[in-house]
Amino acid sequence: MNSRSFVFVLLQRVDAAPGGESVFTRPLLDALRDVGELFQKRGMQKYDTVFLAPSLPTDDLRRQKRIDWGRVEQELRKDEWWGGPNRRGFRVNQERLLPKIRTLIGAKADECVVTVSGALITPPIGWSYALWDRVDELNAIVSLGPMNPRYWGLESEDRMSDVRVVKQRARAALSAVVGRQLGLEACSNVRCFLFEPVMDLVQLDRMRELGKEHGLSMPDDAHYESLDSDVSAAPDGDVGEEL
Ligand SMILES: [Zn+2]
Repeated sequence: MNSRSFVFVLLQRVDAAPGGESVFTRPLLDALRDVGELFQKRGMQKYDTVFLAPSLPTDDLRRQKRIDWGRVEQELRKDEWWGGPNRRGFRVNQERLLPKIRTLIGAKADECVVTVSGALITPPIGWSYALWDRVDELNAIVSLGPMNPRYWGLESEDRMSDVRVVKQRARAALSAVVGRQLGLEACSNVRCFLFEPVMDLVQLDRMRELGKEHGLSMPDDAHYESLDSDVSAAPDGDVGEEL
């Protein structure tokens, strides 16, 4: 197992409306905290959270480490980041985007940077979508867009229920990415975060634990206690795809 520090970059779309915290923002921060707690006993030295976002309206979020949007907006608007349109918007060209993000946030050479965004990413050939991409061992992106029931036209009447679904999926996806970036082996346990390949949401939704097959200590806490906790505290806001 590797021992690494992580930076989670929460990347909002450049056309996201300023002045409004996304309804997904706080549940996503909760998910990141859960992932941090899970892996801090298993190789993650520490993690920081960085927002690349037009604005953050509330004081407690402002205290989070954040890069000045004005400094990066010009970069983010460059065409070279975008892989072309599909029916639901534009796809990110993650192989170009992630090195740029590394530079913009001033990541250290050995830090693992995991970008989380509502943007769609370029899937492997033959795939209609991808949930994440580990471009190399230091750079990865998790795409929340397809995790949103609204993307599939399946939104529920209770939109907090959709937020809970996105949070749960984000947590599983981040656990999969972080575990693999830490050097844990992929496995064939469909309930485990390290199962591969994950080709669709059906499989992602099965992933609830770090399986005992990895021989890690403390298997009793290698799962998330409550999949739906804390979401009731989420503020009202637009259900955008940005975060
Ligand atoms: Zn496993």
